[in-house]
Amino acid sequence: MRAQPKASHFIDGEYVEDSAGAVFDCVYPATGEVIAKLHAATPAIVERAIASAKAAQKEWANTSPTARGRILKRAAEIIRERNRELSELETLDTGKPIQETTVADATSGADSFEFFGGIAASALNGDYIPLGGDFAYTKRVPLGVCVGIGAWNYPTQIACWKGAPALICGNAMVFKPSENTPLCALKIAEILIEAGLPKGLYNVIQGDRTTGPLLVNHPDVAKVSLTGSVPTGRKVYEAAAAGLRHVTMELGGKSPIIVFDDADIDSAIGGAMLGNFYSTGQVCSNGTRVYVHKAIKGEFLKRLKARTEAILIGDPMNEDTQMGPMVSHAQRAKVLDSIAKGKAEGATLVTGGGIPNNVTGEGYYIQPTVFADVTDDMTIAREEIFGPVMCVLDFEDEADVLARANDTEFGLAGGVFTADLTRAHRVVDALEAGTLWINAYNLCPVEIPFGGAKQSGFGRENSAAALNHYSELKTVYVGMGPVASPY
Ligand code: NAD
Repeated sequence: MRAQPKASHFIDGEYVEDSAGAVFDCVYPATGEVIAKLHAATPAIVERAIASAKAAQKEWANTSPTARGRILKRAAEIIRERNRELSELETLDTGKPIQETTVADATSGADSFEFFGGIAASALNGDYIPLGGDFAYTKRVPLGVCVGIGAWNYPTQIACWKGAPALICGNAMVFKPSENTPLCALKIAEILIEAGLPKGLYNVIQGDRTTGPLLVNHPDVAKVSLTGSVPTGRKVYEAAAAGLRHVTMELGGKSPIIVFDDADIDSAIGGAMLGNFYSTGQVCSNGTRVYVHKAIKGEFLKRLKARTEAILIGDPMNEDTQMGPMVSHAQRAKVLDSIAKGKAEGATLVTGGGIPNNVTGEGYYIQPTVFADVTDDMTIAREEIFGPVMCVLDFEDEADVLARANDTEFGLAGGVFTADLTRAHRVVDALEAGTLWINAYNLCPVEIPFGGAKQSGFGRENSAAALNHYSELKTVYVGMGPVASPY
């Protein structure tokens, strides 16, 4: 077992095992090899994780933000020092190529710790409200025990993006990674302890869709932050509502990219490829409906096809590899099924559509796939595929393309490529989504808020905006004179 952790869970500052929990395999998607065996959390483990978090949180809430920030900044340094090791683990967990994981995963987690560690001293202040003699003030107070539940596409990043703002606000977190990618969050928990975080404040427990509800329904939990699909979001939101718990929902998408005929065509193709093929297409904000103006469609598709067919697919540990396998056999089967629907419903397959023949063995590889002549009613244009499948649709008129782009239950992201400055801003104003890009795609530095609209969720991760979702205001009214009462 080449990636076997010391134990399945990390609670109260140490690795913990409970062999009564159901055993599950962690599989390296590039080979199908079982690289670790873990136990799902039993109810006793869930209790222990939450009790430890609850006990630790009280004192943490009274620690100065500067002191909290210092610990997070130290964790960021350790993550950066160990980037190679953490990136290899991320690759083992997900199958994403090392070329990506060394620049996009642990590094992004470190950015998050550094950013929130840095703003802690100044961003958690309250307000003084003069009332003419009397006055009031507000305090930004933590929520208590927060639960984080992760998807499998960015296991390190998600563990950090939820952990950093939660901790800096004075909360404790119990994090449950996806059952597909259980390894990376354990390392983050370990590093936080090494950086000086008091034990119990960041606990990690394993499990699947049967474990999640034990956390979400727990009476000592104040908040749940989920990264996952819309159907899971609905269930988690409903369960959280029963206990009136705070929620952040980072859910799925089917985002549009609109390419006008005056766009820099190579940049637009680059953006569309990044927004469909990075991480083997397993990115929630991907721009999977690419609306290309009819005047440039031929040239766009020709260059896109050539560039897509040049993508190097293979061993994710090879530095030259640009695309690794999908996360699991089941996910690949789902994507192949979507591709079959695209063909059956009459879309034109431009390239890809199957399993590449240059890779051997059991890995869950799939070809980057482009469909053209896609219409808005096709299944591939309506449902999230969550794989490297780009749908190219035609348009001629701005108002028409905006109406079509917005005709979806999702609202996570969107993009526009054009040289016309006013049109660019007009289009992003009209697009119904939480995160938008002009002449760029899928860039999510920690400084900017990230999150969805409509069915893609609510709440924001990253930036100072995330603090609002891990704290609440306490208002104090101060009477300075005798109480005036009619009684
Ligand atoms: P999923 O919804 O199947 O699972 C997400 C997590 O929820 C897992 O940890 C799972 O164990 C847990 N879970 C499942 N049912 C639960 C329940 N009833 N109660 C509590 N927890 C439960 O999603 P996935 O397949 O792991 O990830 C892919 C999905 O995530 C895609 O839809 C993608 O768009 C979305 N995603 C969104 C973002 C974002 O930031 N908006 C980022 C990454 C992925």
